[in-house]
Amino acid sequence: MSKANDIKVKELKPVFTPEQIAARIQELAAEINAEYGDEPMVAVCVLKGGFMFFSDLVRFLHNKNLELDFVRLSSYGKGSSSSKHVIFSKDVEIDICGKHVLIVEDIVDSGHSMRFLLGQFAARKARSLRLAALVDKDERREVDVKVDFAGFKLNQGFIVGYGLDYAEHYRMLPGVFEVIPE
Ligand code: 5GP
Ligand code: MG
Ligand code: MG
Repeated sequence: MSKANDIKVKELKPVFTPEQIAARIQELAAEINAEYGDEPMVAVCVLKGGFMFFSDLVRFLHNKNLELDFVRLSSYGKGSSSSKHVIFSKDVEIDICGKHVLIVEDIVDSGHSMRFLLGQFAARKARSLRLAALVDKDERREVDVKVDFAGFKLNQGFIVGYGLDYAEHYRMLPGVFEVIPE
């Protein structure tokens, strides 16, 4: 596993500008609004990486029966590699039974994290369970997880910014950048 301290960042190469992200979020919100109408719904932000995407997305959701909640998932290691070992350190506080659930995640890569969370939610009798992700690394799946509302598809490079970190750095950047190592 690569640890952050091992890799020095040479450059951050722009991948998605704040304007591109904002425009894509409008399109996703329109799709989500058309899908759910005013049916009881919970949008669940996956912390930490999903926080900026979630906060920008939900302000364009018009569902009058929308509730918001948060889970915290993390994987072992602070570096740039994914892990099959998921730590589930904060659950939702709202009862999702009978409601549509939309999980809002930063990136779906191998799919292990979302397979784990979908598994956790599956027994709770949600009316439906769907997944939105800012970035779908769809060619890198190791397990079968489908992103229902994907912002962008991207299968190469390690990206940061707009909520995404490299060893807890760069989350605050308003755009998405690829880390170019030294
Ligand atoms: P998984 O492999 O379980 O689908 O993805 C686990 C998590 O790894 C993602 O939710 C995301 O937080 C993180 N991840 C995957 N690819 C990247 C990337 O390019 N940049 C960053 N910052 N995190 C990533
Ligand atoms: Mg994530
Ligand atoms: Mg991370």
